[in-house]
Amino acid sequence: MSLPPRIAVVGAGPAGLLLACRLHQAGIPFQLFETDAGPGARAQGGMLDLHADTGQAALRSAGLFERFQQVARYEDQGLRMFDAQGRLLLDDDGLGGDRPEVDRGHLRDLLLGALPVDCVRWGHALRQAAVDGQEVVLQFGNGVIERFDLAVGADGAWSRLRPLLTDVRPRHAGISLYELSLRNVDVDHPQLAALVGRGTLVAKGGARTLFAQRNADAHVRVYASLPQVLDDGEPAPQETRSSLLEHFADWAPDLRGLIAAADDAVRPWPIHMLPVGHRWDHCGAVTLIGDAAHVMPPAGEGANLALRDAADLADALCSPDWRAALRGHEQVMFARAAESAAAAQRMLLAGSVAQMLEEMGGDSASVASPDARLVDGRP
Ligand SMILES: Cc1cc2nc3c(=O)[nH]c(=O)nc-3n(C[C@H](O)[C@H](O)[C@H](O)COP(=O)(O)OP(=O)(O)OC[C@H]3O[C@@H](n4cnc5c(N)ncnc54)[C@H](O)[C@@H]3O)c2cc1C
Repeated sequence: MSLPPRIAVVGAGPAGLLLACRLHQAGIPFQLFETDAGPGARAQGGMLDLHADTGQAALRSAGLFERFQQVARYEDQGLRMFDAQGRLLLDDDGLGGDRPEVDRGHLRDLLLGALPVDCVRWGHALRQAAVDGQEVVLQFGNGVIERFDLAVGADGAWSRLRPLLTDVRPRHAGISLYELSLRNVDVDHPQLAALVGRGTLVAKGGARTLFAQRNADAHVRVYASLPQVLDDGEPAPQETRSSLLEHFADWAPDLRGLIAAADDAVRPWPIHMLPVGHRWDHCGAVTLIGDAAHVMPPAGEGANLALRDAADLADALCSPDWRAALRGHEQVMFARAAESAAAAQRMLLAGSVAQMLEEMGGDSASVASPDARLVDGRP
């Protein structure tokens, strides 16, 4: 009887944690390495809406759907879309939709809670990796060196395992997002709370976009998206609340209020992407899932794909001929990601709410509720 493969999972984001849950449930041994010093080492950021056939399906496959429903916010699926003059173009209360929102921190807690307490090897930042015959050798920043039969890169956009498979690196997508926060919004900023509604606000004016998302605990996260050209490795320029207000100087005062009333802290998110259709030649010792495999501009799919990749890879690794199944899994993942990446790129290039809606499939595919209302008729 052959020995089970020695599996390393690098990265404890949505992809790595979901894979770990599935392997743990199947009794397949693995090691899970994460660069963060511990579960509370950094804030997890904004919210995600989980889709039925990807994110939700992955949680179901791990028997976690009921627990997910305890933290999922079905009531926050609304979508309000405006132009830069503040004209409301789409008002969808999201009721009856099936893309519930979840805060990233809640999702991470849910996945961590399904694993043994000491499962994640925190403080293990992968520095270097090499394929040696049929094995892969992983070297971590803390001096640990270990060998595996299969290393799974779930280590996000700047994967340290990706160079074993391809020379392609993510490039800047031409935009950077600047994240701001409004806390206790119902009490401190009731007008802005009403403007955002129960879910997400999107306002578009040419190449500039404002997103605002209602998170748990009456916390609204605002993302101001600006066109930028950054060279390889160049950080996004730092912006402040007042410099962002200048970028949006010709926008409606109500929309600018989302920036003006926010806290002082501004977090830049330069957006990077791998080429649409990115793939690699199969290598039995290394594979990638999630952003490591197909980082793309945010269009509501990245975490969903990451979870689905992980569930599908777990299915493959549970198969008696896991090597053949792994190869098949990669082909399915490549095709799925290529479709989403192409859509994300088209969304990135959209210059108006009308074009965004076009990319979202009008008022059916991505708009949550069946009776979504186009306020002025189709813009
Ligand atoms: C501003 C913004 C908004 C977004 N909004 C949405 C949204 O609404 N919906 C959606 O579906 N997606 C969204 N995304 C995309 C989503 O965040 C990602 O697609 C998703 O987090 C990918 O999950 P992952 O597990 O593959 O990678 P990650 O979430 O990046 O996790 C990677 C993990 O690996 C660890 N790691 C990294 N390097 C190493 C190393 N060398 N050694 C060990 N560990 C390492 C990291 O610390 C991290 O824990 C958004 C992205 C951005 C930037």
